[in-house]
Amino acid sequence: MVALDGPSGTGKTTVARKLAGRLSAGYLDTGAMYRVVTLAVLRAGVDPADGPAVAELARTTDFALGTDPSAPSVHLAGEDVAAEIRGAEVNHAVSPVSAVPEVRELLVARQRRIIGEVLDEIGGIVVEGRDIGTVVTPDAPLKVYLTADPAVRAARRSAQDTAAGRQSSQAEALASVDRRDRLDSTRAVAPLKAADDAVHLDTTELSIDQVLVALSELASQ
Ligand code: C5P
Repeated sequence: MVALDGPSGTGKTTVARKLAGRLSAGYLDTGAMYRVVTLAVLRAGVDPADGPAVAELARTTDFALGTDPSAPSVHLAGEDVAAEIRGAEVNHAVSPVSAVPEVRELLVARQRRIIGEVLDEIGGIVVEGRDIGTVVTPDAPLKVYLTADPAVRAARRSAQDTAAGRQSSQAEALASVDRRDRLDSTRAVAPLKAADDAVHLDTTELSIDQVLVALSELASQ
């Protein structure tokens, strides 16, 4: 199992999927879980800052996540929401929702269950998020913490948004990435940080393929 953590725009999602494909392993995007709960919160008209209401909604939200790296799927009550969970509204509201302790408790338990099932079934999984090496699976044999300069991360986010048909300037992407990092790394429960025994990899100057080569080498050690 590989635990891949780090802030947004480091290339985590792309490399996690590709690495899982190379290793014939499963893939779990834990950020998608926080995003799908956030979408449910927004659709219900609940204030993302209203902890008790958000926690109640998280308990009753019916969602499903696929773990095939070649076709990761996200469904909310049977509806395909893979594109919608990457939109600006969810980007804005996801950090407050993921700071609610009950939401984290619920999702971490579910993540551990999925990881156990995939490991039993196919023997390997690449899991990406913010607290995988520190909270979800502190015993993971390989933990990697990806970083990159904020301007490069914002440029990557903006390019991804454009490719997905969403408008976002680099300045907007930088403000959004900055805000999310600040909220994610200062929240009281499971703040974004590297595990003490994580391997740090700065992707600022690296292509996706170079990151993939570095991770494949680490995984084969
Ligand atoms: O990885 P992604 O950018 O999709 O994550 C969206 C948000 O979900 C993060 O900004 C963070 O607030 C939350 N998250 C989290 N813990 C994780 C994964 C994501 O709090 N393990």
